[in-house]
Amino acid sequence: MIKRNTQLLFALFALVFMSNVFVGKAEAGSLKDIPDKYAEEINYLINKSVVTGYPNGYFYPEKSVTREEAATMIGRALNLNGTERNTSFNDVDSSSYASGYIQSAVEKGIITGYGDGTFKPKNHITRGEMAFLISRAFNLTQISDIHYYDVERSGKRYEAINKVSTAGIAMGYPDGSYRPDQSITRAEFSLLVARGLNPDFKVEVQPQPIDSSVVSTAVLNVRTGPGISYDRIGQLTGGSIISIYKVVGNWAYMSYNDLKGYVHTDYLRENVRIVAIDAGHGDHDPGAQANGLVEKEINLDVALRTQRYLEKAGIKVVMTRTDDSFLKLNERIDYAVNRNADTFVSIHSNAFTPNAHGTETYYSTADLNPRAEASKMLATFIQERLVDALNTYDRGVKEGPFRVIEHNPLPSVLLELGFVTNDSDAAKLGSSFYRERAAKAIYLGIEDYYDWKY
Ligand SMILES: [Zn+2]
Repeated sequence: MIKRNTQLLFALFALVFMSNVFVGKAEAGSLKDIPDKYAEEINYLINKSVVTGYPNGYFYPEKSVTREEAATMIGRALNLNGTERNTSFNDVDSSSYASGYIQSAVEKGIITGYGDGTFKPKNHITRGEMAFLISRAFNLTQISDIHYYDVERSGKRYEAINKVSTAGIAMGYPDGSYRPDQSITRAEFSLLVARGLNPDFKVEVQPQPIDSSVVSTAVLNVRTGPGISYDRIGQLTGGSIISIYKVVGNWAYMSYNDLKGYVHTDYLRENVRIVAIDAGHGDHDPGAQANGLVEKEINLDVALRTQRYLEKAGIKVVMTRTDDSFLKLNERIDYAVNRNADTFVSIHSNAFTPNAHGTETYYSTADLNPRAEASKMLATFIQERLVDALNTYDRGVKEGPFRVIEHNPLPSVLLELGFVTNDSDAAKLGSSFYRERAAKAIYLGIEDYYDWKY
């Protein structure tokens, strides 16, 4: 068995070697499990001996990187002295394979240990720590206005994360988060090192908008720079909702569809309608289950349908989740608040004894007026529309101690579409016809609320 594997490995190496010679580029598949989308970068590093596979022919792309592995990869990437030797840390022995790279990286100021004199070589490196490591290793200095909603906008960690993002080396997630405390996989870390070494692999990191506004004049000029002397590159019509990335004096750099440029802030108004739609539960938390229905799925489906109605009406939507993922309750609130939502609607389905049925909507008076009054109005409008659309029993608008509405600074409601435990309600909750009706009703209730408020 061993002999055959060795032969296979030689064959694979030969293949890589040949392709290098004749094609000039390594092919994916030198190791058995390198994902296609990372193949170019990883093979680039394999060819430079910065990373290696395991003796069994696997790369294990999803394995978390330890701090000593990260130091070794960086050390090899930068051609640091890897000779095993004594280190500045009491938990990295001179006999450790990584000792040389760790010590070299310390001497170059690339890595630091902990206050207690340890390096914790076997700990997984986090995405936040990785940003420090990469930014120092590749001497990144440039800062831009990229930010992530889960990274505080000051301090050394923010700077490091900003630098790796500005350099086009590390990206956040599509939801606008960076997840600094998450560990990093071998595939991900390889990508970053490859981008640090070779600019061809870099990506353009999209800046995140800091705000939204509505155009409050009939026609608004868009210019290439922050002043009337700059060329006009387009025009916006009144009511257009724009995303703002930065403000320079009285000018805002904005985007509207594909149009990007500067507009004068005197012709913008606040009070953009941004609704946070929160599909209750998710992932390992299914919520109520009965009659073949799983609450998290109903909630998500209705939430996505509601999103479509709202967006069609020009209302911006912030979705706490768009797939079967899980967020803690306070994360749902933070997400909405950080994305400038002005209204929060949490969608749920109920469960109790088989006889219990109907639709109800909750609000909280925890923070009293004016939030409580707005919440109650929002609940009342949505409840009315929902009962009508679903033709369910009207259980009413109630005060409830749910965390997502009680500890929420936004006008917020939690609605229970119906009972999965009741035959009649369950039939509706399981039908796409009624889910669509529910979504439209929620959207109309939100419109009623905005009409009342503005
Ligand atoms: Zn629920």
